[in-house]
Amino acid sequence: PKPVLAVVGRPNVGKSTLVNRILGRREAVVQDTPGVTRDRVAYDALWNGRKFTVLDTGGWEPSADGLAGAVAAQAEYAMTHSDAVVVVVDATVGATATDEAVSKVLRRSKVPVILVANKVDDDRLIADTASLWSLGLGEPFPVSALHGRNSGDLLDAILAAL
Ligand code: GDP
Ligand code: MG
Repeated sequence: PKPVLAVVGRPNVGKSTLVNRILGRREAVVQDTPGVTRDRVAYDALWNGRKFTVLDTGGWEPSADGLAGAVAAQAEYAMTHSDAVVVVVDATVGATATDEAVSKVLRRSKVPVILVANKVDDDRLIADTASLWSLGLGEPFPVSALHGRNSGDLLDAILAAL
């Protein structure tokens, strides 16, 4: 069976944009208004001759538990139904309470977790990503999903983890 990569994170951090970057095609729906991605959508990916499945998550409805609860539930699902998890945060915003809630779930993960600091469109933003070490998920991997900056290196790291 093909390995599964799950992409999690709070709304609007660029999960679907990153999924499209991984796929090399625009298939996942990117929206300026958060909350558009349906619950979980699986796509077929291919990198360096290896096939894998990418799961775009995010169809949260702010529930009784609020946003953090809904996103944490997606993270819980992701780490039990995948072979590796990419958690995306917005480097231009920094770690939010929701990012912390997701990270708390993922720190218990038995599958490898890669922390992606997205929206690093400019090298000057790399220094800001150091604060994301506080999430306890290891070294933040700076990328720009929109422009593709560093996305090849990220894909190599993903394949090594799968
Ligand atoms: P999702 O809700 O996490 O799936 O986020 P989306 O992929 O739908 O993106 C939300 C918004 O962030 C859109 O307006 C994207 O164009 C924007 N975005 C995504 N990645 C980047 C990036 O690397 N740099 C910048 N500047 N914007 C980005
Ligand atoms: Mg999305």
